[in-house]
Amino acid sequence: MVKQVILEPGRTYQEFSLLPGYTKKDCTITDISLETVLDDLIHLRIPILSAAMTSVTGYDMALALGKEGGLGVLPARLSIEEQIGIVRKIKEYEMGFVEEPTTIRDNATIEEALRIVERQGHSKIPVVDKNNEFKGMFDYKYYIKTASATPADCVTKAMIPQDEMKKHTINCPGMLVGQAKCAMFERSANYLVVLDSEGRLEKLAFKKDEEKIKVASAISTHSDWQKRVEANIAEGVDLIVIDTSDAQNEFTEEVIRAYKQSRYKAPICAGNIVTYDGAMCLMKAGADIIKIGMSSGSICITKREKAVGRAPMTALMDADKARKDYFMKISERYVPIIMDGGITSAADMIIALTIADAVMLGGYLNGFHEAVGEKFDEHGQITNDEHAMREVATWGEGSKRAQNLDRYGHSTKTTFFPEGVEGTVPYKGRLKPGLIRDLTKIRAAMSNAGCYNLRQFRNEAVIELNSPYAGDIIGSAHSIKEKR
Ligand code: IMP
Repeated sequence: MVKQVILEPGRTYQEFSLLPGYTKKDCTITDISLETVLDDLIHLRIPILSAAMTSVTGYDMALALGKEGGLGVLPARLSIEEQIGIVRKIKEYEMGFVEEPTTIRDNATIEEALRIVERQGHSKIPVVDKNNEFKGMFDYKYYIKTASATPADCVTKAMIPQDEMKKHTINCPGMLVGQAKCAMFERSANYLVVLDSEGRLEKLAFKKDEEKIKVASAISTHSDWQKRVEANIAEGVDLIVIDTSDAQNEFTEEVIRAYKQSRYKAPICAGNIVTYDGAMCLMKAGADIIKIGMSSGSICITKREKAVGRAPMTALMDADKARKDYFMKISERYVPIIMDGGITSAADMIIALTIADAVMLGGYLNGFHEAVGEKFDEHGQITNDEHAMREVATWGEGSKRAQNLDRYGHSTKTTFFPEGVEGTVPYKGRLKPGLIRDLTKIRAAMSNAGCYNLRQFRNEAVIELNSPYAGDIIGSAHSIKEKR
């Protein structure tokens, strides 16, 4: 007889709505923090990790996401040398100047400045005159807080004027990186506008670019795991991620135990699991962080091929129950959860973040320029011309293309069958502006819920399941022909 038949259907992100809570005056988009703590050593500025997929995460993605405060996870399928080569390059990445910053002319409108903010994702745009002389800074946060001008007004009405920018401006033609670092430190300034002797704009420097960029490496549980770990730790990797499609097993338990006994400084994340017992198993073995999800990945055909998997929100809710029980009954250790798979939009991230400490994204990030996948033009030809890019190649780690036999536990080529497919996703341009737009949506939702940070959001958010009928009405616009 079957051990259990669960008749309650599995749930996914889109089936839920977030309910508004009481919002105080100062709980605005600009006041809300998206910082998440995965470990004492890993405070991320944004709760986003890139999937350990060979179509998604290489140097460019790990760097771009790391610069925004997220965390790139390098696939276990890379050779040890390739993987640690990228870790080394990320760790050696030095702050540089923004040499040719996007500027706006002093006769432009606020609306034009806002369009640049939206398109490029930069929140600070220097305002210059026709001779490139620096007049002030259009700062999105400052504008939102102080705005009395309308979008049709001149940008100079909304900028921070130069005479209020003394802390942030310096006349120092040809300034060096080291000098900029010292100047920012001495002035406790988080950015610097470097001008030439005539007051013309030369370049910008940002303090956040000084922080060492964080990066993680995935490992499998196969025999070379220790070698891979040693090599990564030696390069200063911030997090080790055990990357298996089903982590509730003896191999994973043994790796976690051995890793914890070795007392490496970097924490270890283990996954994936989708049940209460799976989560318990990893936490009891000592995993610092656990990762949830199976069969919900955009390229995944596991459920179709072998009927195994679970709807992501149900998996997440069960794992959350397990971590609460683990905390109350076993050890007073809070184990952060990363939700992985099937997250396609800001709305999905918002629902996942009511429970999870961070989300891992594959398909969502695959569309951005910095993803590894080849870029195709409208005729399906590979192109390097950014303007011509329309689609990006994607493939699962269990696809024929990846042929990652280890990850799926198949010992020989003869027993291999694909659990992932290959395809394309629409090209979405550079990561930063796209990501910033969606982070703004997350902040906006948190503001609706009256939450200043993700911890409060996890404790106080209320989500509600919709019936399919309600889903039709509240899920999107309806009963109209939408203008595209
Ligand atoms: P996505 O964000 O929906 O694209 O899901 C990404 C996640 O799918 C990854 O982080 C993996 O956990 C999972 N995944 C990657 N490759 C495969 C595959 O080939 N088959 C099944 N799942 C996969």
